Amino acid sequence: MENKLDGNAAAGTLQEIFPFEMTLVQATCTGCGTTNAIGATAVYMHGMGTVIRCPFCDTVLIRVVHAKGRYWLDMRGVRVLQISAEA
Ligand SMILES: [Zn+2]
Repeated sequence: MENKLDGNAAAGTLQEIFPFEMTLVQATCTGCGTTNAIGATAVYMHGMGTVIRCPFCDTVLIRVVHAKGRYWLDMRGVRVLQISAEA
């Protein structure tokens, strides 16, 4: 069972970890090299956590699991994360 959502849905989870406006953070995909705002990615939420995929090639960019008081962040699909430090 999984629900496909837009990237804004993942921002809430990432916001618990990063102190930045996560919908505006840009991730460069290791699969196809495109750079997408987190808010424009494809997100799948299911029992195991949140999976953020590239909207172009479907590579898994980020996987987040929140369990047993810890966050598990798998970012192997992200080549570069661009974070604006301006509010
Ligand atoms: Zn891609």
